[in-house]
Amino acid sequence: MKTPSNLIRPLVHNLHAYVPGEQPKIKGLIKLNTNENPYPPAPRVLAAVKAAVDGRLRLYPNPTAQGLREKLAKLHGCRPENIFVGNGSDEVLALAVRAFAEPSKGLSAIFGKQADRSKSVVQYFVPSYSLYPVLADIHGAVKNPVMLKFDFALPSPAELKRGRQWDFNAALSLVTTPNAPSGCGYRTAALAELCRAQKRGVVLLDEAYADFAAENALALALKFPNVLVARTFSKAYSLCFQRVGYCVGQAELVAALDKIRDSYNVNGLGQIAAEATLDELDYYRANFQKIITTREWLGRELTALDFRVLPSQTNFILARPPLFPAEDWLAKLRGQKILVRWFRAPELKDFLRITVGTPAEAAALVAAARKILHA
Ligand SMILES: *Cc1c(COP(=O)(O)O)cnc(C)c1O
Repeated sequence: MKTPSNLIRPLVHNLHAYVPGEQPKIKGLIKLNTNENPYPPAPRVLAAVKAAVDGRLRLYPNPTAQGLREKLAKLHGCRPENIFVGNGSDEVLALAVRAFAEPSKGLSAIFGKQADRSKSVVQYFVPSYSLYPVLADIHGAVKNPVMLKFDFALPSPAELKRGRQWDFNAALSLVTTPNAPSGCGYRTAALAELCRAQKRGVVLLDEAYADFAAENALALALKFPNVLVARTFSKAYSLCFQRVGYCVGQAELVAALDKIRDSYNVNGLGQIAAEATLDELDYYRANFQKIITTREWLGRELTALDFRVLPSQTNFILARPPLFPAEDWLAKLRGQKILVRWFRAPELKDFLRITVGTPAEAAALVAAARKILHA
């Protein structure tokens, strides 16, 4: 029968799509739900984008984001061949799943009866970025979610071995570091231990929030043969709208991603904005400091109101609110025109994830919380 629904692959038909945070257009709403940067791009970045908007929009952009890759290579002390640029780091993640994990249906066809299930395994810690399971499902890979420790700490390789759930041969391991949505920072030494313990497969360290952390693991991408480090211009560099992310790693891994991407995967204005951003790093570093200062202030204020605030190395905090269930707090804060994020998952349902905004936005959140508590 030619009904539309049976024209769709069963895998796609049954898929649960990723649920992004809301982007409502309500006047006066303070938006602290999707970890966007509260500060605008540097004036010269805006000027560069505006100057590029003319008749040239009819032309295709550079297909390999060459200029941007050269600048990033200089920044990270590697070669352009070590850099892959994507349409946001979300695209980098999606391509990594496709490049390194075998769809489980195809496994026995390719490798026969002895097929090694690990070749299909995409594994990640729980909680972490909720896009990972969706990407694995889209590809028909095998998901292996592994719980983090108490307060979202990273298990050591020895603990992972004892737990018997982590697959040391998994085709792809996705590690959000610092962790989202907990904000928990991981030591580079601990991540190196994990990468070293992995016998086969690629480890992708998703460093979307690294600029707000005390240390980062970028050096591991150039040191290990099986490690990619993904970064994005979205959060720290105020460019969510432009969709530019990248990863760093061995040239062979980068070349594999390059083979399977769309021909013009990174839009031209995005390339221009990202390149201009790299000329203004002092502006952004000052913003990181402002956000970190506000984050620490917000943590202290909410703690004084009996929230249990987890230490954060990111531009958001995870906090367990007092008195009412977190889901009710979401609604009550919305009533005060403040939007935060709440996740239904059992390990997160008692918490709110709150993006660190400007000092004024953070103060408004604290004032609203006080009002809710004393109503
Ligand atoms: C926001 C985020 C991304 C995606 O960033 P884009 O570059 O905007 O696609 C990737 N990973 C994590 C953990 C994020 O929070």
